[in-house]
Amino acid sequence: MSKVHVKKGDTVVMITGINQGKKGKVLDVDKDESRVLVEGINLRTKHKKARNRYQQGGIIKQEVPVHSSNVMLICKKCNAPTKVGKQILEDGSKVRVCKKCEDIIDVLIEKK
Ligand SMILES: [Zn+2]
Repeated sequence: MSKVHVKKGDTVVMITGINQGKKGKVLDVDKDESRVLVEGINLRTKHKKARNRYQQGGIIKQEVPVHSSNVMLICKKCNAPTKVGKQILEDGSKVRVCKKCEDIIDVLIEKK
């Protein structure tokens, strides 16, 4: 299992840095690097050159991955940043739980 506590599609909030307090959706997770790509967070401006006269050049903004320790998951039930716990249910399913409301966030591994 990866140490990254969030996954694609989660809504997270930045807890450090210049983007602190900003929320966004996780677009991608790099488990090896423990980095997450969050929609609208940590944007870098890139200048795009026009390749030919039919194509416009210009400035595009692109997200740069941030370290997973800089984000916190937002629990859909509490609607607040929370720590994520992992639990194994009696039937063997592995789930992620919100440490605040103890509600199941989602199922990681369903029982076989
Ligand atoms: Zn919760």
